[in-house]
Amino acid sequence: MDVVVSIAASSSSVFTASQTKLSHCFCVIRNKKTIINRKFVSDSTKDLLNRSSINHKIRAISVDEVNAVKRESLAGLVNDVDWPSPSDEIPFWKRKFHTRDVNPEIPDNIEKDSELLYVIHVTAEMAPIAKVGGLGDVVTGLARACLLRGHKVDIMLPFYECIQKDDIQELSLMSTYSSYFDGNWIQTNAYSGLVSDIPVILIEPMNQFFKGEDVYGGSYNELEAYLFFSRACLEWMQVTGTQPDIIHVHEWQTGALPLLYWDMYCYLSLQKPRIVLTIHNMEHYGECRQEQLNKCGLDGSLYATIDKAIDDRTIGHNPERLSLLKGAIVYSNSVVTVSATYLNETLCSGWLASALLTNRDKYHGILNGIDTVMWNPASDVFLPANYHAHNTDGKKVCKQYLQRGLGLAFEGRVPLVVCISRLVAQKGLHLIKHAINHIEKHGGQMIVLGKAPDGRVQEEFEALAKLHNKGSTIRILLMYSEELSHMLYAGADMVLVPSIYEPCGLAQMIGMRYGSTSTTYANTKLLYGSFQVPIVRKTGGLADTVFDMDDQSQPEVANGRTLDRAFSYYKEKPIEWAHIVQKVMQIDNSWNKTASKYIDVYNSIRVRW
Ligand code: ADP
Repeated sequence: MDVVVSIAASSSSVFTASQTKLSHCFCVIRNKKTIINRKFVSDSTKDLLNRSSINHKIRAISVDEVNAVKRESLAGLVNDVDWPSPSDEIPFWKRKFHTRDVNPEIPDNIEKDSELLYVIHVTAEMAPIAKVGGLGDVVTGLARACLLRGHKVDIMLPFYECIQKDDIQELSLMSTYSSYFDGNWIQTNAYSGLVSDIPVILIEPMNQFFKGEDVYGGSYNELEAYLFFSRACLEWMQVTGTQPDIIHVHEWQTGALPLLYWDMYCYLSLQKPRIVLTIHNMEHYGECRQEQLNKCGLDGSLYATIDKAIDDRTIGHNPERLSLLKGAIVYSNSVVTVSATYLNETLCSGWLASALLTNRDKYHGILNGIDTVMWNPASDVFLPANYHAHNTDGKKVCKQYLQRGLGLAFEGRVPLVVCISRLVAQKGLHLIKHAINHIEKHGGQMIVLGKAPDGRVQEEFEALAKLHNKGSTIRILLMYSEELSHMLYAGADMVLVPSIYEPCGLAQMIGMRYGSTSTTYANTKLLYGSFQVPIVRKTGGLADTVFDMDDQSQPEVANGRTLDRAFSYYKEKPIEWAHIVQKVMQIDNSWNKTASKYIDVYNSIRVRW
């Protein structure tokens, strides 16, 4: 076909010309009539259009006509929306969506790699079925990027009771086997399925592990459940004769796997795999007593040395405590963390700094990307209207949808700031609280979506919610909702990320993809970040992805601002603001940019048989 135009918005009237040849056209489709502004179209594309087999009528139109069509299309969008209200029996983010699948517009222009690998991720989280934070997003995004490059990828994760079975396509029981734990062989089911087109293997033990309403915090012993899971994944590979090139483990939860592999399974029949560990956050290092490690069949006492699983914190203090993350650093063939800045930070401070320095040769910093299939405002199934960088009308609808649904004022031009975050100290809780008051005082609106694992923090924010949620400017929503998070990124003008430290951070990248600019947080010298223009602190991955717009030294990458500067810019320079929105939406923070660095790491350690 000469020209392929994909319709990204479902019932709405705006669509994206996703094919590169058409990517700069302004297109509106309405009543089966396509209008393309040829002003933005190259000669070769015009030629293609002339020869195109699109059924719709195509004609050149003037700029005035384009503006008229845009106004008309916005009115059309507005008419199409089933506006929510705070008194709705079912809150708008819990409405039934026609699918929970991401409706992927799979990019077909990605070059396949010549040397193909088989990678199995072993992980505690995967977006969207078992996600708590960025770990889930990263596993899904990296897996998809590798699949698109032609590699074979499976994701192994616990079959948590809270996983919605409807969210898994082609779910079927693949094998039943037994895996060792604490003197018993536990009967275990392995299911296969597809999640947003990515193959998954779900491990379900016939005991109490992984039961409960949430991914974490069930009434079982979490550390022991993940020790079991780490061994059960290797046991499954062993009994099924599955030998990937790479087993990619993540965080402390799967930190025992490299020990189990090199000290046990490679003496059985698993010999091909090499192990990559990604550390997403050094704060959690999997403190494990020696007798707990015994339960998965290893001799815990053998690992209680500084060159194995004792870290700088426990040595001489609590030597019976092992660190699963330290053990995994020592035993993995390669160790990756999630940004170059965080790599440097972790080499200079923290209990694992000396272990990382000793293993510096195999330690890499690779910036996370975002899954641009799952996070795509042009096709996102959770949005009331879709949009793209060349026509952001749908974004206005998304903002008003939120405002109406949550009972916020929706007249006039008011900056809307969102903060979507786990409510833990790392995320700058005092700065979030400060921002709430500051924004209220300066005529903005703010929505916080977050959940606190610590009861005291949850209570503190509940009290704040009680205080602020009565008015028409602030909403503090204390829960986890994937659907609402998509709507917030889309409706926001600014995304606030005031983290005290941030290994990488995805919220600022997702915010940009959805046209929310970053800004810096006023009155705090430390902050330089963003309000959907990201407003962030200069730390870890935030320093690698958000660049101050008022810093003239690197205008080509500038995309962030302080809060006060962002507010006055938003209010006083609406046209310039609209340009910033378009600019940040086009920044490529996708995995396509960085997955190749992981593939280089994989290739550097794989063995060829
Ligand atoms: P972290 O991994 O430390 O939580 P990241 O910024 O790397 O931080 O990733 C956070 C991810 O979790 C983002 O996709 C964000 O949208 C999502 N998220 C955080 N809190 C919530 C919540 N309460 N509801 C929905 N999504 C959330």
